[in-house]
Amino acid sequence: MSVAEARTLSVRNPRTGAVDFTFEAASAAEIQAKAQALRQAQKGWSARPLSERIEVMRRWSASLKRHAAEIGAADGADTGGCHTSQFTAFINAASIDGWCDDVTDILERNLVDGRSLVMPEVEIRSQLVPYPLVGVISPWNAPMMLSLIDAIPALLAGSAILLKPSEVSPRFVAPLMKTVREVPELAAVFDVVLGDGVTGQEVISNVDLICFTGSVATGRKVAEACGRRLIPAFLELGGKDPVIVTATADIDRATTSVLRGGVYATGQVCYSIERVYVHESIHDEFVAELVRKAEEVMLNDQDPLNGHIGPFIFAPQAEIVARHLDDAVTRGARILTGGKPMEIGGGQYMRPTVLTDVNHDMLIMREETFGPTLPVMKYRDIEEAIELANDTIYGLNAAVIAGSEEEALPIAERLNAGGVSIQDTFLTFAKLRKIGTHSFGVSGIGGSRTGPESIMRFLRRKALMTNHGAPASITQSRPADVAAAAPSTR
Ligand code: NDP
Repeated sequence: MSVAEARTLSVRNPRTGAVDFTFEAASAAEIQAKAQALRQAQKGWSARPLSERIEVMRRWSASLKRHAAEIGAADGADTGGCHTSQFTAFINAASIDGWCDDVTDILERNLVDGRSLVMPEVEIRSQLVPYPLVGVISPWNAPMMLSLIDAIPALLAGSAILLKPSEVSPRFVAPLMKTVREVPELAAVFDVVLGDGVTGQEVISNVDLICFTGSVATGRKVAEACGRRLIPAFLELGGKDPVIVTATADIDRATTSVLRGGVYATGQVCYSIERVYVHESIHDEFVAELVRKAEEVMLNDQDPLNGHIGPFIFAPQAEIVARHLDDAVTRGARILTGGKPMEIGGGQYMRPTVLTDVNHDMLIMREETFGPTLPVMKYRDIEEAIELANDTIYGLNAAVIAGSEEEALPIAERLNAGGVSIQDTFLTFAKLRKIGTHSFGVSGIGGSRTGPESIMRFLRRKALMTNHGAPASITQSRPADVAAAAPSTR
């Protein structure tokens, strides 16, 4: 399908299975026109003092909060309804407010000023120059949050944003753009194009930098397209996060943490727990308690706000989960509770599913499942546990639950992951603005999206160098002058 053609795309409702939303995919000409208008407006946006950009962003935050109910309803329709949808506007507003509080200091810390070490008469200043147009390509699992997580610091850096959300979950865009239009200065530098993968490729052709969140397979295509254009690509990709539960762990604490980490949002979270390694001495007790707690989890099939987990957002994901379970059972795994995805009222739902007798030949232990599955594997000693946890192509996050933090910490230090939760799972959100991290393996490349320095992804640092002395002469300077200017090595 060509992006030049007009295309109407249909969107399935995750709760009913019915197509209840359609939209026109942006054509190549529309994408180019939007990119051109954004580029034009970005010049004025980046020329504004930072204090003015902060003031504009704070107005946007207030607008998001005013429209929180509408945004929550749209996000709920996109994702099948979960408790998080109600907070979506507030989570994004808090992100804007936090960045507004901190950005001045962060950027000042990144300015270099002073005299050259090798040529003392040369004064050096730095300038931070934003990439003019940042393209954001986001996935369906947390549609609004993952559309704005990179856009917010990029806007404060002085870039304009062209967003391409997933075709699976586009309903949040209308209320989002309502909030943007309430802030005209922002509306000039933030725009959206709706569409699919073809649209995503066209976005890449028109921007100066890409922030992509999604699967490894698509991330590779995005990286290739960015490589052809030689533009930076920041890729936040999938995971297969392990948790190690040691022999001394408190079973109640461990099972509560592992269950939530594995099944929250029906497991459709990049940092869901997808592999559970438990010491053989507590394996049976752990599994029994995990199954007991898993059976207390309620589906929200009757009422989005009454229940703990919702439907699969993207119906084909249910097929992937079923395929992983079939493969595991064929190879000898036992399902102790839960089972396959099932249709209820047109939606695809699935109960938390605990499996044992799994091994690393199984898809469920190797590929991203993205469902509420908890495959539990026994280990004999901690060396084996660490080896198993690190036996993956991924390296997004991990977790360790032991009898004490002192026991857990050295294990966590040996796990190949960008973040390790200790004495719990699923703490990734806690690091958001505090610390920058880097994924291992294929879980992502490029500078960190978390932490104060994440804004530097959108800025190029330029050196402005003034010579306060006499200029060097090509005819009069001798090699000895250069040697004298060089810093001493003693
Ligand atoms: P996809 O990779 O399928 O899609 C991500 C985005 O890329 C969508 O907007 C999609 O459009 C678009 N796209 C598809 N094909 C192309 C292409 N050829 N060129 C450019 N863009 C394209 O991911 P999902 O939407 O399925 O999201 C789930 C994945 O995201 C999981 O792997 C999950 O782990 C990962 N993820 C990672 C996070 C992280 O921070 N590391 C956070 C959250 C999710 P369309 O949907 O319209 O086809």
